[in-house]
Amino acid sequence: MWRILRPDAVEVLKDERARSALHRYFAVMEKKLPARFQVCKHVDVGVDLSSDTDDLWQAHAQGLKELRAILSKLDSNQLELETLNKPKISLLDLKIELARRILKSCRFCERRCEANRVAGEKGTCGVGETSRISSEFMHHGEEPELVPSYTIFFNGCTFKCQYCQNWDISQYPEEGVPVSPTSVARLIENAAEEGARNVNFVGGEPTPNLPTILEALKLCQANIPSVWNSNMYLSLESMELLSGTQDIYLADFKYGNDKCAQRYSKVPRYFEIVARNHRLAFKDAELIIRHLVLPNHLECCTRPVLKWIADNLGSMVRVNIMDQYRPCYRADQFEEINRHLTREEFSKALGIAEEVGLKNVIT
Ligand code: SF4
Repeated sequence: MWRILRPDAVEVLKDERARSALHRYFAVMEKKLPARFQVCKHVDVGVDLSSDTDDLWQAHAQGLKELRAILSKLDSNQLELETLNKPKISLLDLKIELARRILKSCRFCERRCEANRVAGEKGTCGVGETSRISSEFMHHGEEPELVPSYTIFFNGCTFKCQYCQNWDISQYPEEGVPVSPTSVARLIENAAEEGARNVNFVGGEPTPNLPTILEALKLCQANIPSVWNSNMYLSLESMELLSGTQDIYLADFKYGNDKCAQRYSKVPRYFEIVARNHRLAFKDAELIIRHLVLPNHLECCTRPVLKWIADNLGSMVRVNIMDQYRPCYRADQFEEINRHLTREEFSKALGIAEEVGLKNVIT
């Protein structure tokens, strides 16, 4: 379908820094390579899904190795996906089974509530067994390489950000409409036909909805890049299950220390967990990191976050330094963030990025 794109969404197609950081994503978007979740469907794990959980995790580790080998051949044109048979039980089937088991004692994020969501219990995020979405549409406001991005907003979140701009979605998990994996798969296929560059799972937070998302990807026939748009507070188990299914992690790195994370998002052990997951995401697929600059938080948050990125992931990782903070939800209870960001603060944030050596900042 013909549609008018933002000028920067067209220009980015020729941007060498974007293309080198997101090399595989561009190839999938341009239909030169299969999306990772489509490759997952071709990995034979040769396991009985009624086996005990430890055996399933072992088969999963083996399946991931196999997936990496296949991806490497596909990406170097030594193999075509069509030449591989679809196995009886694929790596994606195995991921879905493991996710369903976790749902009975929920540990999708590092809050590790252990709520039996299948039996109607709820944890901190308040998300039940069935996913609910508040909206889905072709988003034209994301990073230029992602636009138009078919974005699905799941209700509920694992964080309690006191300034959340989407608080009506994130803090009200019982709102929205229930969705099945089949309906999500059909929505993605329609969006792909309409010219979406990717499917973008967000919220709230996609993490509590991992079983629905994996199942939807299994049912989805479209070859479209998958984007995990997240606060990155996932458990290690969830990072393992996501591994090999996502083409881009669109990852928030908000706070440079645990004190600010606890104060504004009511979340413990923030830095250690989110830094770990950024490392894992960078190893697994391609990465765009978002850092929302908060008023009065340049030295305690912006500097340590940007420095950590440069020191640990290198200077060419794609980073979006965001200036659109506005005081929402309960921000009026925190004097220091109860205002917009100033131009001076934002230009200082860009200066810090340069100082620490980041060379692929989206401007
Ligand atoms: S996803 Fe929700 S229920 Fe599960 S551990 Fe996290 S906050 Fe708790």
